[in-house]
Amino acid sequence: MTISQATASVCSISGIKSNPQATASSNKKKEIYLPGTDCAIKTQVYLSGYTSYRVGGPAEWYVAPRNLESLRASIEYAKTYKLPITVLGAGSNLLVSDRGIPGLVVVTRHLRHRNFDPETGQLTVAAGESIPGLAWEAAGLGWVGLEWAVGIPGTVGGAVVMNAGAHSSCIADILVSAQVLSPDGTVETLTPSELGYKYRTSNLQGGASIVTQATFQLQPGMAPEQLLAITKEHKSHRLSTQPYDKPSCGSVFRNPKPHGAGWLIEQTGLKGFQIGNAQVAQRHANFIVNCGGASAGDIFSLIRHIQHQVQEQWSIWLEPEVKMIGEFPAMG
Ligand SMILES: Cc1cc2nc3c(=O)[nH]c(=O)nc-3n(C[C@H](O)[C@H](O)[C@H](O)COP(=O)(O)OP(=O)(O)OC[C@H]3O[C@@H](n4cnc5c(N)ncnc54)[C@H](O)[C@@H]3O)c2cc1C
Repeated sequence: MTISQATASVCSISGIKSNPQATASSNKKKEIYLPGTDCAIKTQVYLSGYTSYRVGGPAEWYVAPRNLESLRASIEYAKTYKLPITVLGAGSNLLVSDRGIPGLVVVTRHLRHRNFDPETGQLTVAAGESIPGLAWEAAGLGWVGLEWAVGIPGTVGGAVVMNAGAHSSCIADILVSAQVLSPDGTVETLTPSELGYKYRTSNLQGGASIVTQATFQLQPGMAPEQLLAITKEHKSHRLSTQPYDKPSCGSVFRNPKPHGAGWLIEQTGLKGFQIGNAQVAQRHANFIVNCGGASAGDIFSLIRHIQHQVQEQWSIWLEPEVKMIGEFPAMG
């Protein structure tokens, strides 16, 4: 094991036998390298730098593995010290508590590789690859199937778990299989039917498996200029209808039927309503934006206010699409 010399304080351990919970509680930053890897586990990393809302307190322990071996070692580490694991992709559908997250936060965005197979039209990608990046790349090759996803600022892993979708398409439409790492260290390949896909949800939500890779079926053969133009059109549409200029998590609530959440919130007169520095966006009422310096608590209070106001006026309780992680007052 190598121990970083560069950090302010270094765990005085050998073979990581010390109790990390005891050392993390001192609040001093520490860094430990996982045995046999070049992957560092750090303490007290503020997650506001890892969420699209730009809010969130510290991860008690934080790791960002670059390959499957380091990911496995991270899970082993958490198991050894009985640390709960929280997985973060691009953090674009998360509200992380100001108090932070206990246990080990595993950030997957550095798991990178991608392969466009011209024989099969299949794209196999690691969990940390960016969805918009892949949409542009596929369009540039003339491979149809991801152009709808260009405005979704997440990773492949997050999109597979959330069944991300836009413009009447979603991940379930193109997924061939997802590779997941189970808590016991085994790697399984799951098909869409095993993932139980429904609107913005899958069996993977709330589970303990980590998506490591996905294979998508695309259709090569379109003129790249034509596909790039369609992709650009989708992006422009999003920019003109949604507030991409301020930190947000996209749509906060799932859409009930027959009316969408945005319509209900707008009709309740809440557009522009603000708590602290969190505001119901003027451009799209199902977005809450961070106007600068908002806390997770501001955003949470606004979510609750919207739920109560909409319930009062329409007898509909809006269900959050955003995942809330860490300690918040009980919803209700
Ligand atoms: C401006 C904006 C626009 C958006 N527009 C859309 C849209 O049009 N359609 C849409 O569906 N969403 C949209 N979103 C929401 C978000 O981008 C998607 O839900 C996205 O799929 C989340 O991916 P992520 O990597 O950021 O996941 P995160 O937000 O980091 O995580 C989401 C959930 O997935 C879990 N997770 C993440 N990666 C893994 C993994 N590898 N293995 C296991 N679990 C994992 C997390 O634990 C968490 O429960 C938007 C967000 C923003 C900020």
